[in-house]
Amino acid sequence: MHSQSQQSTATNFTELAEQISQGHQLTADEALELLNTPDSQTLRLVGAAGALRREHFGNTVKVNYLVNLKSGLCPEDCTYCSQRLGSKAEILKYTWLKPEEAVHQAGLGIAGGASRVCMVASGKGPTDRDVDRVATMIDALKGEHPDVEVCACLGILKDGQAQRLKAAGADAYNHNLNTAESMYPEICSTHSFDERVATVREAKNTGLSPCSGLIVGMGETPEQLVEAIFALRDLNADSIPVNFLMPFDGTPLQGTWNLTPLACLRILAVVRMVCPDKEVRMAGGREMHLRSLQATALEVANSLFLGDYLTSEGQDAKDDLAMIGDAGFVVLGQTDHDTKQQVNPLSETTVQPTGDPCDKDNAQSPGCASSCGSATVSPKSGSAPSCCGTDTAEPVLRRRGAGTAQNPNA
Ligand code: SF4
Repeated sequence: MHSQSQQSTATNFTELAEQISQGHQLTADEALELLNTPDSQTLRLVGAAGALRREHFGNTVKVNYLVNLKSGLCPEDCTYCSQRLGSKAEILKYTWLKPEEAVHQAGLGIAGGASRVCMVASGKGPTDRDVDRVATMIDALKGEHPDVEVCACLGILKDGQAQRLKAAGADAYNHNLNTAESMYPEICSTHSFDERVATVREAKNTGLSPCSGLIVGMGETPEQLVEAIFALRDLNADSIPVNFLMPFDGTPLQGTWNLTPLACLRILAVVRMVCPDKEVRMAGGREMHLRSLQATALEVANSLFLGDYLTSEGQDAKDDLAMIGDAGFVVLGQTDHDTKQQVNPLSETTVQPTGDPCDKDNAQSPGCASSCGSATVSPKSGSAPSCCGTDTAEPVLRRRGAGTAQNPNA
């Protein structure tokens, strides 16, 4: 039995979602109130927001795949970034991939189920020569995979660069606002919030689908989080990646752990309720912050990155795909796939009565569906809890895929 107040809160979530479905735009006060939902009511909020997700996206999950074309060596000073000027994070550092390598890496992600490839390069923004280089890659990728969507993410664009990317076949351009304008000076001194907004607008005006999102957990207040979400609504971005801060050692935000799995769900639910018909992506850091609630997050987020991130390793791609299927969702583009086919007879299920479920060498390991699949737990640990009772799930630096001789996680 629920108390009367619990029932009325749940009813309010449902009613609010119905109002949004009929055109109501969430107000900042309403968004703040939703962010303050108690833990005990958060799954009810997720259920209500999930109705909007299903109204617009059914049970599909869009799978995106990152290719880091150029890693590290950035002159900018974004405090959250392992590629920043002065970062001591021991990330892979390399200059531009050759076009054939970029296309090869992207093809592996597409084979893994991705319908969008995100081609990313570090730096404040590209030179015209850089844009030509990426245009060559996009052209080659589209030649091999005409149906795949390509999103470029190259930083702040100068005049004419968005057109050049569009002409080469790019479908979308990503440039995250990351946080509220009122917080921006605290996280970056080398470029401004306005420059970011201008680039997203430029991409949109050129006909590229605008993708712009957040990094949450950097110390922003709830009011600033709402400010940032509403700035994204004002930008009318088609896709909104919600990143959860991965506090890399060697960056100013190392050791910053502000999120809980339920707080992450609340944030995703509020983004969904503010932007009900937009692609909401649970992006970097989902493994370490959502942990065992990643599949629950799919109830509001309709998109994720498969495999690894730019400089850190993500959950095993096969675990990503299994999570999608287990939760009753289907990968966008593979919607003819019947999830009932995925049911294994009991006799075929893999049950390991003994052994460490987090042992990645144990091929039969029952899926510990959170950070363990990705983040082999670092011994250098900080303070965040992880699913396996170890102290933390610190970002594990990427040592495979683009820029290495190792196969990617795809
Ligand atoms: S976020 Fe981009 S611009 Fe900022 S430091 Fe990282 S790579 Fe450079």
